[in-house]
Amino acid sequence: MESRNSYQSPSRRGSAEDRPSYGSRPSYGDQRYSTRGAPQGGRGRGPSPRSGGGSARAKQFIHPSRFIQEARVTEKADYLPIHSFEDFAVHKKILDNIVIKGFEKPSAIQDQTIPLVLEGKDVVGIANTGTGKTAAFAIPMIHDLMTNMDHRALIMAPTRELAQQIMEECFSFGKGCGLRSALLIGGASMYLQKRDLRTNPRVVIGTPGRIKDHVQQGTLPLPLFNFIVLDEVDRMLDMGFINDISGLLARVSQDRQSLFFSATMEPKIARLIEQFSRNPVTVSTKEGSTVDSVSQNVVYYSGSTDKMDKLHDVLIGGDCGRTIIFDDTKRAVERLGRELHARGFKVDEIHGDKSQAQRSKALSRLKSDEINILVATDVAARGIDVTDITHVINFSTPNSYDDYVHRIGRTGRAGKGGKALTFLSR
Ligand code: AMP
Repeated sequence: MESRNSYQSPSRRGSAEDRPSYGSRPSYGDQRYSTRGAPQGGRGRGPSPRSGGGSARAKQFIHPSRFIQEARVTEKADYLPIHSFEDFAVHKKILDNIVIKGFEKPSAIQDQTIPLVLEGKDVVGIANTGTGKTAAFAIPMIHDLMTNMDHRALIMAPTRELAQQIMEECFSFGKGCGLRSALLIGGASMYLQKRDLRTNPRVVIGTPGRIKDHVQQGTLPLPLFNFIVLDEVDRMLDMGFINDISGLLARVSQDRQSLFFSATMEPKIARLIEQFSRNPVTVSTKEGSTVDSVSQNVVYYSGSTDKMDKLHDVLIGGDCGRTIIFDDTKRAVERLGRELHARGFKVDEIHGDKSQAQRSKALSRLKSDEINILVATDVAARGIDVTDITHVINFSTPNSYDDYVHRIGRTGRAGKGGKALTFLSR
């Protein structure tokens, strides 16, 4: 296992030399991973956000005032659900699993969505990130699959990480419910996924690209799927998946129930929903454009050395627990990770050039407190559901305000407070 030094000893470097094993049921505890490139960075090389390694989109100007906001945690925690979980007419096993998970009362999106889904309605859920969307569809979906043996669910998500997390959430709600599942994401073995698909899983979760690959190879019989969930549709649109999604939706069962979740409702998304749903009911629990439970502020710097030093100060400031730092490009992320590592921080990096195994490994290291800092490109902004992220640091400004919201949505989840700091040049 890779071992990273702690804060005071700056030079030791670790490496991991394992291989991933993927299957229909990812067992997060025992996955093994491949080698991580040896870092070569040094002090004093301030990252230049625009330097190569990735394809940064043109940035929109975002007024600094939009990065500053007091947290309003109490307001969010005050939501009074109409239902308790026991009010939902779902199988006892699911209710037991909800108790085991420690959920005491439904969040707003769950409170309002679950009854509609249980009635068999198509639903469009508009909610901020981190508000409990996954359980809002997973709970009634598992009930439906347990009740109707000919039903099969297909869940599409924009990123591998999100797909994996949905899988984990579905496991925890569906424990002991006898539902086989398959996870179809890029960067993982096609061979093992095909093997999983041969077992006729009742739940298939994946990213549009890999799902399409399986459909093209004839290994995923889409017409058998009649419970469809599209999560983070806005992000799928941003990532250019819209045509793939339309193509896939055109091939699933005509007699189906469809659920769409999105943080925003742009015309393209509205058209997609209109085309592929039947009289959907829209539930909106969105409260403004940012995650209200996150306290947001800016850090001004002058020059790259000052920027790095300011970051160092923030990280040793005392209240920094689990922290995600965003930078623009893969290369910038690598360089910043090396720099922080050289300064003795417990850090790992996550970006599009990392293998799926390396990305999963970095997340599990964060979850197990082996590291407390994850440096990431925006690819990681969706789907990371690590609880108790105390800080999101925008070492580079996000490309758009939407990206900003997605980034800071990694903290302040489930109504907990969190801090977001955005670095701005003087
Ligand atoms: P999601 O928006 O589905 O990614 O959920 C964000 C986080 O909130 C996850 O860690 C969930 O496990 C947690 N969560 C969702 N619903 C509840 C609830 N009703 N009570 C407590 N935690 C929840």
